[in-house]
Amino acid sequence: MSSYETATRYFEQAANVMGISPNMRKLLKTPQREVKVQVALEMDDGQIATYIGYRIQHDSARGPMKGGLRFHPEVDADEVLALATLMTWKTAIVNIPYGGAKGGIAINPRHLSPGERERVTRKFVDEIHDVIGPDKDIPAPDMGTGPQEMAWIMNQYGKYHGYNPACVTGKPVELHGADGRNEATGRGVAILTRNLLEHHEHQLKGARIAIQGFGNVGSFAASFLHDMGALVIAISDVSGAIHNPKGLNIPAVIRYQAEHGSIEDYPAADESDNAALLASEADVLIPAAIGGVLTADNANDVRAKFVVEAANAPTTPEADAIFEKRNIIVLPDVLANAGGVTVSYFEWVQNRQHFRWDLQRVRDELDRIMIESFDHIRLIAAEKHVSLRVAAYILGIGRVGRATVLGGI
Ligand code: NAD
Repeated sequence: MSSYETATRYFEQAANVMGISPNMRKLLKTPQREVKVQVALEMDDGQIATYIGYRIQHDSARGPMKGGLRFHPEVDADEVLALATLMTWKTAIVNIPYGGAKGGIAINPRHLSPGERERVTRKFVDEIHDVIGPDKDIPAPDMGTGPQEMAWIMNQYGKYHGYNPACVTGKPVELHGADGRNEATGRGVAILTRNLLEHHEHQLKGARIAIQGFGNVGSFAASFLHDMGALVIAISDVSGAIHNPKGLNIPAVIRYQAEHGSIEDYPAADESDNAALLASEADVLIPAAIGGVLTADNANDVRAKFVVEAANAPTTPEADAIFEKRNIIVLPDVLANAGGVTVSYFEWVQNRQHFRWDLQRVRDELDRIMIESFDHIRLIAAEKHVSLRVAAYILGIGRVGRATVLGGI
């Protein structure tokens, strides 16, 4: 099943509960604009490489569109569209004044030098600068991109449209970025993992957590959960997995990763692999890498009681149905990883006001929005006897639908 079909399946489940008409469903699902561009790059050795870049703008009923930019070899139009629709529901669920978009380049950033990464990022902005901007569509980091790429985007966009740091978020703190943006997605994941467990009469302290992916989201989630007293017993990255049933020393793993470039051969743990990680003897499983990793083939192997979707679209609908049957509670991506876009919103607000918030203010506002949104979704789930995912979609689709009708079609 394609990524977009997966996203649509979840939309339809909620739309059925809501009784939305076929015409309205079509309107809400259809993207506003899809841009596909050539991104040509002169490599350091003088060779020319040509990549395909995408920016897909799904919906702007609630405000300018917002969504990350992914550099990954598997990026394609279908995946970008699926992720753009997720952004529409996500921004509505946490009630920030944005629509949804997403972008990406089908490229492996690990194979590029810093100079090549810079040139490819600037070239992409050359191709799409007319359709993005602080009141149109605001990119941010996603897999394979980070603050440095966002700095290049701001600079390149400024060459066409003048100085305007609000055109992109996730920038370095030294260049109009927000304190707390880098950690925000992982922090939101950790806060909601704690609240989810507490709501089900479990303690976070001592709870065993397995995390797939140790990049921006996975490493910050691990770090906050470790600080809050959880035992992070297994983590993985693209090179493999490591495991220690007594709990990994997360600050030491982060230092090791910074020195060695990956967690491979980390000494104070057993080696494992990504398949074993997903089946870990853990209380909480946190997929925080790529999409589509929990499928009909492995959902019955999952031993965790809770799945917190830090990655976008990690669970196929077939796996989701198996989890529901097995009473495994899934905190869906559209809420679980919304901390990043929420603090991106704070960054955009600060850029527009030319007024900097301190880290504590960012964290307090983030925690408040995440917890309020979680409580809202829990109430919908209880009232309508639906999963947290369907409840989240009901909240998001309802807000976007009302804005669409109020604004006029
Ligand atoms: P990242 O590039 O910083 O890290 C990705 C991690 O996943 C790395 O550790 C990488 O080694 C690992 N990985 C890649 N392919 C893998 C594979 N096949 N098996 C196991 N591990 C693999 O990316 P990120 O920003 O941490 O994003 C991770 C996920 O979170 C993505 O699904 C992204 O869409 C989602 N997300 C990110 C943000 C954000 O603010 N960065 C916000 C919302 C959602």
